[in-house]
Amino acid sequence: MILIAVGSSIGSAQNHFAAAEEFLQKQGIMVVQKSDNFMFPPWGGIAKNEFTNAVWQLKTDKSPDALLAQLQAAEDASGRDRSTRWGDRTLDLDILIYNDEKIETADLKLPHPGMLKRDFVLIPLLDLLQKLA
Ligand code: ATP
Ligand code: CA
Ligand code: CA
Repeated sequence: MILIAVGSSIGSAQNHFAAAEEFLQKQGIMVVQKSDNFMFPPWGGIAKNEFTNAVWQLKTDKSPDALLAQLQAAEDASGRDRSTRWGDRTLDLDILIYNDEKIETADLKLPHPGMLKRDFVLIPLLDLLQKLA
């Protein structure tokens, strides 16, 4: 199972999420199930806006690295400014898990190290798992 965390705190999250789904689909990355969208306060002490967060299940033949590159391309297409980590952002797409892959490189850590500590990941994740049950 491939799961990604989806977040937005600048502009219309609905529009950013819909554009991301269409972008990914064109690259052969299918969104097979989506959690509801949940609102959370900013996290990490840098962002100031409320966030909209979701978790999506994907289906793709792409490798984890190739998937990450396409997620970053989708972020770029939304106008993502990467100058501040944990800052407000149009769109954030993080890989949470990619099957049972364990990866610890500078560019990609799997499973995502923060996922079990973040309510804004866990609550959408539970919603998604309920939909899959
Ligand atoms: P966090 O990673 O703590 O959620 P963030 O999403 O704000 O913070 P970004 O600035 O979006 O951080 O990304 C920083 C780097 O994290 C990216 O350049 C990417 O290479 C790396 N990264 C490592 N593991 C992952 C992963 N599982 N999914 C997405 N990016 C990852
Ligand atoms: Ca993130
Ligand atoms: Ca990210």
